[in-house]
Amino acid sequence: MLVYIHIPYCRGKCRYCAFSSQPLGRQGAANPHGPLAAYTSTLVAEIALWRQALGPVPVSSIFFGGGTPSLLAPQQVGSILEALHAAFRVASGAEISIEANPESALQPGWLAGVAAAGVNRLSFGVQSFHAEELRLLGRIHTAQQAIQAVEAAQRLPFNSISLDLMWGLPCAEEACPPVAASAGSPSATRAATALVRQAVSRWQTTLATAIALGPQHLSCYGLMLEEGTPLARQAEGNTLALPPDRTLTAQYLHTVHALRRAGFAQYEIANFAKPGHQCQHNLGYWHGEEYMGLGPAAVATVGSVRRTNPADVAAWHKAVVQCSPGKLPQGEEEHLTPATLEQELLMLALRTTQGLPLGPWAQRTGRAFTRQFSTLVDSLQRSGLATRTATHFALTPRGLLLSNAIIEQFFAALPAHSG
Ligand code: SF4
Repeated sequence: MLVYIHIPYCRGKCRYCAFSSQPLGRQGAANPHGPLAAYTSTLVAEIALWRQALGPVPVSSIFFGGGTPSLLAPQQVGSILEALHAAFRVASGAEISIEANPESALQPGWLAGVAAAGVNRLSFGVQSFHAEELRLLGRIHTAQQAIQAVEAAQRLPFNSISLDLMWGLPCAEEACPPVAASAGSPSATRAATALVRQAVSRWQTTLATAIALGPQHLSCYGLMLEEGTPLARQAEGNTLALPPDRTLTAQYLHTVHALRRAGFAQYEIANFAKPGHQCQHNLGYWHGEEYMGLGPAAVATVGSVRRTNPADVAAWHKAVVQCSPGKLPQGEEEHLTPATLEQELLMLALRTTQGLPLGPWAQRTGRAFTRQFSTLVDSLQRSGLATRTATHFALTPRGLLLSNAIIEQFFAALPAHSG
């Protein structure tokens, strides 16, 4: 069993963010007796409910995500971990990860405190090492703070340090014209080519800075414009120079090659690790393990039931305190059909570099994958977008870049009962 803990607070709201989190402001975030203290007590009560419902199940990994988990004081992280150890059989050496924003991780004693509480893996939300890109994204940390936080963490006994970075960022310079202006005349085409080069070079600098810091793990995500966010509104108003597809392709392929040269193995579309440093928690999700979800908006999947906690903090608190012993807090419940599980297996496996294991697919579905999808499999292989071995079917780096569209094609080709 994996355990995910959602921290529903941030200091402010980043301009691209659609995650479930409430901005606390500088003072709210610094107040150890405010919402974070109340949140911790409710979370400990929720852990007790899961213990009553499931018993002392074995736990292989714990992940504090958010939101901004580094707003929790180390003592609060410690209380939550103690409650989990008391309730479940947490494996010795279990991976215990926390997401941290550089500015809050640099609070005096925070990094040492969470290491002492038992956290052994840090995932820093860095995104970029360019001041203008950080401003455009609405991040409140500086590039210098990110570097200081990583270096400070490296002096402590964490097993793995990971950095989240973002490619596909819009041009942050005021001089950048909107995309529409870069079509047409030869001079506009030359200007557009120069913009592509600048964008690729900015990303190369961010990636090179990250590599030079010596982390064991990197997650490199392409920016997604989420509906309703300030950044998406800016794009809709055509006041943002969004990168064209050829920039995105160049940035992604540079990532794959540069990280391979630096000794990182890609193991999922966005994730790269030095040997022995793959994120066990995420691997668990991709292999279809069961997971508990604690905190507002957290999702759990146990057996064929998926439960989602209320996203609103007050509603989640009420669901926990009013819950009868032996039950779980009331939230949304979905019974997953074999067809849904089949689609999820396909989607998650095709995002990993190892790909879809053909044997387990045949056992689960009663069908041989390469026969079932023979036309699509052959055409993807011919286009260099996929490879097949005796045991796995996997997308190539180019195929991974198009994975959403490719997975849609597989879904469309599934039998009617699976759609
Ligand atoms: S810190 Fe993370 S969760 Fe919080 S607003 Fe920014 S992107 Fe969203």
